[in-house]
Amino acid sequence: MKFSGFKVLKEALTGHKGWGPLWRNPDPKPSYDIIIVGGGGHGLSTAFYLAKNFGHLKVAVLEKGWLGSGNIGRNTTIIRSNYLLPGNQPFYELSMKLWENLEQETNFNSMVSQRGIFNLFHSDGQRDAYRRRGNAMMISGAGAKLVDAADLREMLPYLNFDNARFPIKGALIQPRAGTARHDGVVWGYARGADQRGVDIIQNCEVTGFRITNGQVEGVETTRGFIGAKKVGVAVAGSTGRVMEKAGMRLPIESHVLQAFVSEGLKPLIDNVITFGAGHFYISQSDKGGLVFGGDIDGYNSYAQRGNLPVVEDVLEGGMALMPMIGRARLLRNWGGIMDMSMDGSPIIDETPVSGLYLNAGWCYGGFKATPASGFCFAHLLATGRSHEVTAQMRLDRFARGYVIDEKGVGAQPNLH
Ligand SMILES: Cc1cc2nc3c(=O)[nH]c(=O)nc-3n(C[C@H](O)[C@H](O)[C@H](O)COP(=O)(O)OP(=O)(O)OC[C@H]3O[C@@H](n4cnc5c(N)ncnc54)[C@H](O)[C@@H]3O)c2cc1C
Repeated sequence: MKFSGFKVLKEALTGHKGWGPLWRNPDPKPSYDIIIVGGGGHGLSTAFYLAKNFGHLKVAVLEKGWLGSGNIGRNTTIIRSNYLLPGNQPFYELSMKLWENLEQETNFNSMVSQRGIFNLFHSDGQRDAYRRRGNAMMISGAGAKLVDAADLREMLPYLNFDNARFPIKGALIQPRAGTARHDGVVWGYARGADQRGVDIIQNCEVTGFRITNGQVEGVETTRGFIGAKKVGVAVAGSTGRVMEKAGMRLPIESHVLQAFVSEGLKPLIDNVITFGAGHFYISQSDKGGLVFGGDIDGYNSYAQRGNLPVVEDVLEGGMALMPMIGRARLLRNWGGIMDMSMDGSPIIDETPVSGLYLNAGWCYGGFKATPASGFCFAHLLATGRSHEVTAQMRLDRFARGYVIDEKGVGAQPNLH
């Protein structure tokens, strides 16, 4: 089934009887060439690009719950490639380019909206740092623009310019950044992978790995043993728990991150804004809700819900930035478990167990990475070699001292 304007019109005129399920519901086969553990955004995009770019391989995705039940369905949907370091910038720029063509590639409306991101700065030092970041973005082709407070006031007049505790001095803008509908991304990749022969198996938890003489042979699951020549793990917040079953301890902590949405309002914010004097980011959904978030809760947890001190902190950030937000009623908030690496950058690499590969350490930024993460993990799984833009995202970089310290503040689990 191919989606098109013509198909929508035809179904509208014939009682919507021609729509089918977006993917099959197959039973697991005894073995596969490649098993992906985790049916989140990264697992599904990996399966999609494996099937699209290396179509001869037999691939399955094993998901312990239902597709979209993890962070991919819980994030604040921001996509951007405004990175500084050579270990990160080309990767996130590849992701941005894949976002720009995603809907054509998957034939699915993922509502990719390049509405632009505004990173506000509040001091001269911060402006200089953003100028440097903007230059790195321009060199990589990501595009960037620096505006002062007078120009910004014209663009975002509702921000608190006149009576602010942290005066707004301007913003670094990436016009190509924006948002995408996160569920649409899951469904688009799942449908695209399924159409190309990938078995997507839900309600199938991986409970262990079968490893003989340092070589992975398959996975133990709640639906029995499934053999595989290679296994790729992409379980985000569950990385520590799952890799422990292969005898590994990782430089990753799991933390809760909360997100918030207000009641629906008339159109107000037509881009994404981040506050530079605290941790707060906001956009407006197509339904009208203000979608916003802030920092992780700050203690290790596998609970998909957070606590009140962070609610207070996030709402304070919002009030400092645009006091009128205090008039809006909060509709709901929720939490997801984030795999925070110790330099804020991801890991896409083979592990010391032959045939066992890891995709993890996504921190706050894993949604925007979804296309490139899958693209590069598929490349690694199929060829055994890292893609050039993930060359520095190695698992042993912490031991070797080659961290990708985007924020430049050393090892702690609340970096980007
Ligand atoms: C509140 C919040 C806001 C965020 N906002 C943004 C944002 O604006 N922009 C951005 O770029 N990023 C954002 N992120 C981060 C981003 O959502 C994550 O980094 C990214 O989604 C993680 O990758 P994933 O989609 O594969 O994870 P998930 O969707 O969590 O996928 C992992 C899957 O693995 C499955 N799994 C776990 N254990 C097993 C097992 N043993 N067997 C089988 N399956 C298993 C889980 O059920 C889950 O479905 C946010 C995250 C949160 C929580």
